Amino acid sequence: MKKARTLLAVVAAGALTLGMAACSTGGGDDNGGGSGDGGLIGVAMPTKSSERWIADGDALKATLEADGYSVDLQYAEDDIPTQVSQVENMITKGAEALIIAAIDGTTLSNVLQEAADAGIPVIAYDRLIRDSENVDYYATFDNFLVGQQQAWTVLNGLGLTELDGTPIDGAPAGPFNIELFAGSLDDNNAFFFFNGAMDVLQPYIDNGTLVVKSGQTDIEQVATLRWDGETAQSRMEDILTANYSDGSKVNAVLSPYDGISRGIISALQDAGYSVGEGWPIISGQDAEVDSVKAILSGEQYATIFKDTRELAKVAAGMAAAILGGGEPEVNDTTTYDNGVKVVPSYLLQPVPVVKDNVQSALVDTGYWTAEELGL
Ligand code: BGC
Repeated sequence: MKKARTLLAVVAAGALTLGMAACSTGGGDDNGGGSGDGGLIGVAMPTKSSERWIADGDALKATLEADGYSVDLQYAEDDIPTQVSQVENMITKGAEALIIAAIDGTTLSNVLQEAADAGIPVIAYDRLIRDSENVDYYATFDNFLVGQQQAWTVLNGLGLTELDGTPIDGAPAGPFNIELFAGSLDDNNAFFFFNGAMDVLQPYIDNGTLVVKSGQTDIEQVATLRWDGETAQSRMEDILTANYSDGSKVNAVLSPYDGISRGIISALQDAGYSVGEGWPIISGQDAEVDSVKAILSGEQYATIFKDTRELAKVAAGMAAAILGGGEPEVNDTTTYDNGVKVVPSYLLQPVPVVKDNVQSALVDTGYWTAEELGL
């Protein structure tokens, strides 16, 4: 564990440095000065029902305003027509750039054509916008790595690997029962997370160390529409009834997002599982407060921390660079094909968090206070 902690500290520091580099070369910082005359930037976020998007929106607004822009920040409560009309309104109001975290990455083609016709640059935020040539840049995390890290945290909890996937000598042979969950199929990220995770888990399934008793291993079978926790809870209940009524136990659950993990935890508790001996290893993503608390209490094993402050800086820097006539810095020009073009991207590094590095990854970096986490 100690070794993993040191590694994580290095990774976390690297992510911060990268984020700052992207910001400082992103332009706009030097002469923005918070004057508010830099023009209007539209920021479209999917929903307030998840903490991370609130943090993203707040961080984008603060960063852009500090750079001298005014901001129209809108949340669409996961309703696609609402998001489309919010973006249309931003165009009508004269936005000079759009930063969009899409609900459904395939439904914005028409409104983005309107933006392009008006000469408004578009930055896809965190989630790739698909099927449109009118997406100029993409600011996100290394999403395939997020999926790998989720799988590594599961294997780590089972005693099979370190948090970076290095096999542990003398690891138990298993077999361990695992069930799999994925995110929403209309979100391009869901595929990256699941493919990254399966890249790690498949060999363990193939050699019999991991057993998926439900037999549900295709993303279509394990997906969770809109990343909804209650949907995940009822799927977990069904899995437990159909496959574990014979007294066998689930040892691990691959979960792609903290809200889904909380649904899975409720289903397990309702089925009579309790924290301690026999409680499964459960992954997550986003380092939401309630889930970090669940990690501290042992209900959830891990989450993946994606520093929304850094992502906001990258996206804001991209907008400022374009509006200033420059070119945003990117570090990936091959991975994110949206069906029409490969969108130039800047990828930040995600950080796996387990009980041992809650303090260093989340509190020492100022993401959450000790008080917020009940420490
Ligand atoms: C984001 C994740 C988030 C999920 C659900 C994904 O697109 O990348 O951070 O957990 O959406 O909101």
